[in-house]
Amino acid sequence: MKRLYEPSAYETPKNCFWTQALRPVAWPRGVGRVSAEVAIIGGGYTGLSTALRLADRSVDVALFEARTPGWGASGRNGGFCCLGGGRLGRSRTINALGPDAWSDWCDAQKMAVQWVDRVIVEHALEVERHSNGETVLAHSARAMADLRADAQNITQDFAVTPTLHEASDLRGQGLSGPFHGAMTLPIGFALNPARYHAGLAGAAQAAGVQLYQQAPVTRITAHATGYRLDGPDLQCDAQKVVLATNGYSSEDIPDWLRGRTLPVMSSIIITRPLTHSEMQAQGWTSDQMAYDSRTLLHYFRKLPDNRFLFGMRGGLRATPGAEAAIARKIRKDFHTMFPAWRDVEITHAWSGLACLMSNLSPFCAEVPGHSGLFAGLGYHGNGVAMASYTGRLLGDLVLGETPDMPYPTVMRTVPKRFPLGRYRRALLTPVYAAATLLDR
Ligand SMILES: Cc1cc2nc3c(=O)[nH]c(=O)nc-3n(C[C@H](O)[C@H](O)[C@H](O)COP(=O)(O)OP(=O)(O)OC[C@H]3O[C@@H](n4cnc5c(N)ncnc54)[C@H](O)[C@@H]3O)c2cc1C
Repeated sequence: MKRLYEPSAYETPKNCFWTQALRPVAWPRGVGRVSAEVAIIGGGYTGLSTALRLADRSVDVALFEARTPGWGASGRNGGFCCLGGGRLGRSRTINALGPDAWSDWCDAQKMAVQWVDRVIVEHALEVERHSNGETVLAHSARAMADLRADAQNITQDFAVTPTLHEASDLRGQGLSGPFHGAMTLPIGFALNPARYHAGLAGAAQAAGVQLYQQAPVTRITAHATGYRLDGPDLQCDAQKVVLATNGYSSEDIPDWLRGRTLPVMSSIIITRPLTHSEMQAQGWTSDQMAYDSRTLLHYFRKLPDNRFLFGMRGGLRATPGAEAAIARKIRKDFHTMFPAWRDVEITHAWSGLACLMSNLSPFCAEVPGHSGLFAGLGYHGNGVAMASYTGRLLGDLVLGETPDMPYPTVMRTVPKRFPLGRYRRALLTPVYAAATLLDR
């Protein structure tokens, strides 16, 4: 597998809170010959949601996960099930593609959150859900003015009324910090990402999906009736194939992917459970999921057991030096925002790879020039809802049907290759530097 980062980016995180707290799930190892109508590569939310949709329609599905269940971003994210999935701006999209393209994309984002809600309810998944929508906290007076201006667009785009909170009201709402006000959007909720993943996997298995772990696919070959997948210990013939590898994609599996994704690291820390008086001292008692208004944003929430989760972008490299630097930076930012918790022990810390695309939107379609090969990826760090939804759409596309849910143009647009080939991570250096300046 040809990948972009240093090897340590592909090691199993040693100190991820979610996986430490979850019982291991039994997927058989991917060994020997397997056949299926549809083969799925990648066992995160995208792959599992596609598999579940297909199995519900009586399709014979085999899913191959290179590592262990939930090993990718789906087992180690922040658990914000919220709007997002792309980085397309409102006016830029409307100017380039027209108002319908924008409103279809907004409908898809909203439907993605509703879809996860539906899956959780339908399959009675135990996911430690909390938070009514999400709250964005203004990091500057100008950011608060922008939030006020955005409120109208949000009502128009998502048919909901956001609530604005003045800075003086934040302490009373248990959202105290160095903020200039906030806005709550009544869409979305937080969940335990690994439990959601395990629940999806259980539902897929119950529906008849063959789930295999430690089953890396290292070659995809087209033949007269479909595709042959090969790995070190397995072979699979399938009529159709779905790529669901997102930030852990390889440049050469298949070659079409070369240069089309830009994996980016995101990092999370979690504290020990906070006491009541520690929460009071900081003035943060809310269980609302929140993020700040910076371009390089921080995301945070109090977990149901009163631990505090704090996340932000990761480093540009996965060398020991770069990892130590990002570990220092995330602690510094956490202590700046929540100074009363400076001495609270941080018990867990880890990173993972999310995935950017050159057109700033997810891709969910048949791969051009490769009949029967489909891909769903590129959620720009917002894939809890969008990856699940993409999987649902892919299921319909694989069946040859037009999805019965919003399937916006932006998700069908084939992403171009990034410039600079395997050196394309360098594109992030000026982007992060400019955003850091603007975020002050
Ligand atoms: C630290 C972090 C925090 C995040 N926080 C949030 C959040 O709060 N809210 C949100 O909405 N999103 C968040 N995200 C993004 C979200 O987790 C992802 O967008 C989403 O999980 C993507 O799901 P996926 O199934 O497409 O990919 P993944 O879950 O990454 O799964 C891809 C899988 O493919 C497997 N694979 C790769 N190549 C092969 C191969 N050749 N053969 C077999 N298997 C292969 C990998 O092992 C991997 O397990 C976060 C991401 C990170 C890293």
